Amino acid sequence: MTEAVKKLIDTLHDAHTLTTEEYERLVVGYSTEAAAYAAQKADAMRRRVFGNTVFIRGLIEVSNLCRNDCYYCGIRCSNEKCDRYCLTAKQILECCEEGYQLGFRTFVLQGGEGCLAVDDVTSTVREIKRRYPDCAVTLSLGEYSFEEYRRMRESGADRYLLRHETADREHYERLHPSSMSFDNRMRCLHDLRVLGFQVGCGFMVGSPYQTPRHIATDLKFIEEFAPEMCGIGPFIPQKDTPLGDHPAGTADLTVYLLSLLRLMHPELLLPATTALGSIGSDGRERGIRAGANVIMPNLSPPSERQKYALYDNKLSSGDESAQAVAHLRLSMQTIGYEIVNARGDHPDAHIQN
Ligand code: SAM
Repeated sequence: MTEAVKKLIDTLHDAHTLTTEEYERLVVGYSTEAAAYAAQKADAMRRRVFGNTVFIRGLIEVSNLCRNDCYYCGIRCSNEKCDRYCLTAKQILECCEEGYQLGFRTFVLQGGEGCLAVDDVTSTVREIKRRYPDCAVTLSLGEYSFEEYRRMRESGADRYLLRHETADREHYERLHPSSMSFDNRMRCLHDLRVLGFQVGCGFMVGSPYQTPRHIATDLKFIEEFAPEMCGIGPFIPQKDTPLGDHPAGTADLTVYLLSLLRLMHPELLLPATTALGSIGSDGRERGIRAGANVIMPNLSPPSERQKYALYDNKLSSGDESAQAVAHLRLSMQTIGYEIVNARGDHPDAHIQN
């Protein structure tokens, strides 16, 4: 690690801000030594804010129907090989009941873009909140109008995850068809913020055509937008997509970026994602040790899990499965962390009941 990189990591730790050029130098300056240095500082930072706790979220993949056509994603609407499904409200509520008994106090309803009608989303959220008033509901269902997001928020949804995918317009346009709009994605994130959701953005590490400058632009965007949550994971090719022959991103760079995000925003809810767990056997543990503090085990009905195939070899069993949470607890204890049965809100969040 050069002295310049070490100094930049120290500045990010102390001031929580860098210029885009400085972020770029940190990305280009990646080395195992720099990553270890950043991870040690990031872990100390997360322990100051959150102790050794890890929050768990029950991930319910409500449908793989999608009206979008992202060039990298296995559930894009033109992928005819994707075997489509859509959970009923009853199935979603059964997942919640199982998750509640297992100790989950946040349910994440994630699915393809526009897969559920807004009326169905709001009635399901209302019912979840009625049955489990001590639980948080996170939605991750893609782009909607301000008015539609307003109805979701009023039904009781607490958080919304919408990865920005890339903060560089040209890069965005290489990853998506012209029917999709960078400006609309950004508009959505701002609307969600205005409506009082705890908001999550994020991007894929090593996505096709991504340069260190793009990653630096992402980091600067995340610094300024200051989301409550941020999801990053390696790009992993899916063979039936137009970008299916591009190489995967690496766990090493993803873990390093998780540390930088922790130093940038000490209070961030930062998951060690499924994609990170899918790319290397100890990806999730490495992410947690490097500053991540959230894990999202899969609560979807086992019969449908394989169908939510965003990328090849996506994990959905073993410790990735919500039913294995007792084992996950032990794995985390072994490396010095404690899974807690709490909602796990952002420290600054204003909670409405
Ligand atoms: N429809 C919602 C949305 O647009 O935010 C949520 C579902 S979307 C499929 C969830 C995330 O999966 C995307 O934001 C994208 O970053 C990630 N993803 C899709 N294809 C991927 C791939 N091939 N490798 C890694 N991550 C991928």
